[in-house]
Amino acid sequence: MATALPSQEGYEDDYDLDDVDDFDDFSDTIDYSHLNLNAIDYNELTATVENAHHIKNIQLNSNSLLTLTPEIDKFQSLITLELSNNQLVQLPHEIIYLKNLKNLYLKNNSLDDLSLPKDFDQLKQLEVINLGGNRFKQFPYQIFRMVNLKELYMGSNRITNLPDLFQTLTKMEVLYLGGNQIGNIPDSIGYMDSLIVLNLCDNRLRTLPRSISRLNRLKSLSLHNNQFCALPPDIIRLDLQELSLRNNPLVVRFVRDLTYDVPTLKELAARTIKLHRVDYDDKSIPKCLIEYLNSAKSCLNPKCKGVYFESCHKNIKFVDFCGKFYLPLLQFLCSPACTPTSTCSMTTTNHSDDMNSKFKKVLLG
Ligand SMILES: [Zn+2]
Repeated sequence: MATALPSQEGYEDDYDLDDVDDFDDFSDTIDYSHLNLNAIDYNELTATVENAHHIKNIQLNSNSLLTLTPEIDKFQSLITLELSNNQLVQLPHEIIYLKNLKNLYLKNNSLDDLSLPKDFDQLKQLEVINLGGNRFKQFPYQIFRMVNLKELYMGSNRITNLPDLFQTLTKMEVLYLGGNQIGNIPDSIGYMDSLIVLNLCDNRLRTLPRSISRLNRLKSLSLHNNQFCALPPDIIRLDLQELSLRNNPLVVRFVRDLTYDVPTLKELAARTIKLHRVDYDDKSIPKCLIEYLNSAKSCLNPKCKGVYFESCHKNIKFVDFCGKFYLPLLQFLCSPACTPTSTCSMTTTNHSDDMNSKFKKVLLG
């Protein structure tokens, strides 16, 4: 993920550009990334810095740090703190005094449920936090009071349950929860009114709450590698640009079951009797055949009057979704040749390229 750096505009607003000679020497960034450090104290951090109060950006990512100096709170202008790819097990309590901190990156460390300060929610101005690739088993409760958060990355942890408290996070635009062991999604997720990206891939989900259809701004929904057998019908109301469903029973079953066993001669004879409405009774044929004939199921193609018995053709019917996707739904037909002309099916070959690309995006994307 790209690190958000202070914009050039902000830089010019805060400092006097008339002093051009000093401008080249001045930096608001401390960069000690990729140095294999296992510790760095305040004096080392500020060795080449004139005034810690000017520092807006500290890069300490990709070292072997076990701790962060408590004197981090002296960097009172700090906006971005990048600590990803270290071995941090704890954050110093003093971090909560960084009143300007907007971006905090802690991806791939060894943080767990006891690692964040109790008052971590004092970082009210925090907008982006990355806690992915750590050891959280519980969703950090402090997060629910950080009402200005716009992006939260909690992927690749060990979270099994989500509290039903997400309605407080009304400014959240990106919520990444992929790669956990989450078994269900609480109703309150549907009340995160600003949500644009919701990633729930690689979990243990079987269903979504119906409230998901309230997410009017949602553009990207990742559900791949879960246990979904069905989606709430209201999902069709969403105006998505991306939807991934691959590796769910919902999709896998379609592909696996698309085989067609050729009907037996008995079934073909029985189909003909039903189609032409030939009369039969227990005086003309054995009782077992009457039971068989009565077990006929109607072909689901509305333009077909046929029936099937043991051998049906499982067909994928695509239902229009958002005008952009076609969601696959299973239907049972009497034979592969029986194709409803009013719907698109996988067995027809006259897909437009556009249709094919939509299909791939749903199943594989
Ligand atoms: Zn049919």
